[in-house]
Amino acid sequence: MNDKIVWDISITAPSQYQAISNGVLLETTEVDKNRKWQFNMDIPMSSYLVAMVVGNYEVEKKMSASQKQMELYYYPEDLQKAEPTYRHTIKMFDFLEQEIGIEYPWKVYKQIPVKDFLYSGMENTTATIYSDQFVVDDIAFNDGNYVTVNAHEMAHQWFGNLVTETSGKHHWLQEGFATYYSMLAEQEIYGEDHYYMTLFENAESLIAQTKAGRGTALLDPKASSLTFYQHGAWALHALRDEIGDVDFKLSVRTYLKQYAGRNVTTDDFLKIVSNTSGKDMSEFKNRWLTNTQFPSAEALQLLRKSNFMEQYFQLAARSISSFDESFNSYKETLRSPVNELLVEEMISQLILHKKTIESLNFIKKPLQPEMLRLDKP
Ligand SMILES: [Zn+2]
Repeated sequence: MNDKIVWDISITAPSQYQAISNGVLLETTEVDKNRKWQFNMDIPMSSYLVAMVVGNYEVEKKMSASQKQMELYYYPEDLQKAEPTYRHTIKMFDFLEQEIGIEYPWKVYKQIPVKDFLYSGMENTTATIYSDQFVVDDIAFNDGNYVTVNAHEMAHQWFGNLVTETSGKHHWLQEGFATYYSMLAEQEIYGEDHYYMTLFENAESLIAQTKAGRGTALLDPKASSLTFYQHGAWALHALRDEIGDVDFKLSVRTYLKQYAGRNVTTDDFLKIVSNTSGKDMSEFKNRWLTNTQFPSAEALQLLRKSNFMEQYFQLAARSISSFDESFNSYKETLRSPVNELLVEEMISQLILHKKTIESLNFIKKPLQPEMLRLDKP
């Protein structure tokens, strides 16, 4: 992890296959019945990020706004699935470059599905590998898709690959950051309410972990995945609220510039935040990084800054009331413009009350048919 070197990989394989590895493909040469692929990298990287894939693949090549080449690999039989699988890829890539404020450091970014993969995805530098269970057609896309994993592994290219933790104690610098920036990328696509809903759902899981006595501190190398990923993202949300957008973005930019191609600790990051914002970070560290409990009161305060969350909490509180008591609240929820997330919560309460959407027949017009899908318990 701490030995970063420049890798130039070559692969020799039967020529009917496609070989893929980190970096730019310099050349291919025929060697008897085989072919040799020669790849070039020019920034040092850790050995756990090396990737080699050989198989039957087609590739779709696209360009980002910054003229980085995107190589989107798919199995030859999956041509129809390529578009839904890679939907939003360029938009998220362009967004991350803008949001992070540091150009993607390499010339090419490849994504390759593989069979029987142990994880959802692995963010190998310039060559993310992901489980082919995320390869979906247009219809299956609605039930589950690659968007979140796509954004997460993409964000790792900066957080994990360009700068790398010195040890497991600082694992949130990779997983917390990748989770946070993938949430921002999804916000760009699905909107702010979706972002807050994700924060809220993650907080519920973290509170449950604390209540079950299994809470772990973010700086504990043996912390749970829930802590590293979701608590880590929460810590960054809280930090941004505390120091403001401008200082937050400047801190992240400075951090990536200063430690590009190197290893980092949490204190390296906090020192930059402190210098940038002029604020002492020890209270933040105690509350969010070394605390084994999830700070639920602070999290609730932060959620309440969203008008949508306020509306959501008011509606959610109705779940212990009777249908008649909640009737006006439901009526309010259906007032145009309708918020799909609020309607989903309302419908789940109707199911609890053993009522159907027809029992709210005073106003059905703003509802789109797809919003009624929860109406069938
Ligand atoms: Zn990750």
